[in-house]
Amino acid sequence: MHERSDFLIIGSGIAGLRAAADLAAHGTVTILTKADPTESNTGYAQGGIAAAIGVEDSPEEHFADTMAAGDGLCDEDAVRVLVEDGVTYVQELLEWGAAFDRDATGQPALGREGAHRVRRVLHARDATGREIGRVLWSRVAADPRVRVLRHSRATRLVVRNHRCEGAIFEDGGRGGTIEARSVLLATGGAGQVYSDTTNPAIATGDGAVMAWHAGARVADLEFVQFHPTALALEGMPRFLLSEALRGEGAWLINADGERFMSRYERGGELASRDLVSRAMVTEVARTGRPVFLSLQHLDPDWVHRRFPTIAAACQAAGLDLARDPIPVSPAAHYLMGGVETDICARTTLPGLHAAGEVACTGVHGANRLASNSLLEGLVFGARAVQAMLAPPAAGEMNNVRVVDGGPVEWLLAAEAAPPARPDLDHEVRKVMWTAVGLIREERALAPAVEQLATWSRRSNLATLGYLIARAALRREESRGGHFRADVPSRDDLNWRFHVAEKHSP
Ligand SMILES: Cc1cc2nc3c(=O)[nH]c(=O)nc-3n(C[C@H](O)[C@H](O)[C@H](O)COP(=O)(O)OP(=O)(O)OC[C@H]3O[C@@H](n4cnc5c(N)ncnc54)[C@H](O)[C@@H]3O)c2cc1C
Repeated sequence: MHERSDFLIIGSGIAGLRAAADLAAHGTVTILTKADPTESNTGYAQGGIAAAIGVEDSPEEHFADTMAAGDGLCDEDAVRVLVEDGVTYVQELLEWGAAFDRDATGQPALGREGAHRVRRVLHARDATGREIGRVLWSRVAADPRVRVLRHSRATRLVVRNHRCEGAIFEDGGRGGTIEARSVLLATGGAGQVYSDTTNPAIATGDGAVMAWHAGARVADLEFVQFHPTALALEGMPRFLLSEALRGEGAWLINADGERFMSRYERGGELASRDLVSRAMVTEVARTGRPVFLSLQHLDPDWVHRRFPTIAAACQAAGLDLARDPIPVSPAAHYLMGGVETDICARTTLPGLHAAGEVACTGVHGANRLASNSLLEGLVFGARAVQAMLAPPAAGEMNNVRVVDGGPVEWLLAAEAAPPARPDLDHEVRKVMWTAVGLIREERALAPAVEQLATWSRRSNLATLGYLIARAALRREESRGGHFRADVPSRDDLNWRFHVAEKHSP
């Protein structure tokens, strides 16, 4: 199959669907999506979407909280766009029929999450992403100009004369090529590069690897967010226990039933995710026993009503969310870095755009504020449309230092790679978790980089792991989601910039 469409979107999460909703007015749109269209990180998002719509809130305050969470590395222009346009696009979602929870006055009920100073998180019980996906999907699926190719995995971008003109995909059959005047990468996150992750199986970071192979710049890959509270039961996937639980009063306790967070952080349970995660790991090391999330002091009926999805997942594991201490541990959750873009979603490769978790706009800096990522996908998915209608042009982030990403021989070897081997990917995930996880140091990172470089000739997941590990080794400081035990302080003098790389020509 070799076809042409005006616009090609790779991915059907919030970013891809929001772009498709507007693009269809301007031409034909093809969406490639590698599983069922609803299978995405978006579909699993629980806590909510942040927007400064409350009477006690303002975009200025949302801006300040986002900048503080980003630990000195947020791009101010991008954050301003996020918090200001965010209000408009969230209002639009409401107009389109998003059934967010309402308070007694009929206004959207606003939840609180870590590092937000005010309540500003709109939610649909604890399945907010599913509700947003439903609304966007119903608009896109009804449009005859949008064609969705399901179970079609993009494997390579088509680049001619330094311009992206489409993508090659496989679909279990003959596969094919879609050519387009403009391409949007909306392939989401990469949690699956770690053995312990909250992300579903689709989150393998394909977009970053495809963009890298195509010659676009990737940036900030060392900044990975580990969520503190994933359900920690032997042999079970790390199901996320949303931050909204702590926002609504849940405690972290140790095996003696003691609340311990205030001993480590002033913000207690609602300190930023990296701080809570490291405090938990330290407490486990100190006591030699696990830590738990506890809602036993809250009204059990209310807990079950407010968090039905999480309660059901706990029940399936034999636990009562309201009455039992729930064993938790950190897990890889979100990739702040990705394909470098400007605030119009343009990458450094003309014709290629990126929005949502795959992109690095600089909006999250070194650490993402809770509930800002659905917002990012919504805002930058919508903004990508204007750039996709204009002639192909490259864009860059501010405050970037570009490094040479290595020779092309290595790249060619990777492109000629046989399909990924599950056993190899399993090894990649283990190495990433132990050497490139929550706490990093040079003596573990350096051999991991070497090992992953060898494997990257055989697997895309290893290529991504290699790029993340190399970025983590390069940044000799600790900031946001990147913590180096051997250089535990933030070093603004030498490191207050984004590091981007692209392979050598
Ligand atoms: C459990 C969980 C809970 C979360 N809770 C929240 C929350 O409460 N609030 C919040 O703001 N954020 C939350 N997040 C993060 C947020 O959900 C994601 O960052 C966001 O949904 C990403 O949207 P996206 O459109 O960029 O990508 P996704 O929603 O991940 O969509 C990516 C799409 O790309 C497709 N795809 C991937 N690779 C290919 C390929 N090679 N070819 C074709 N298609 C491909 C996938 O199949 C999928 O359709 C949560 C994440 C998880 C995992």
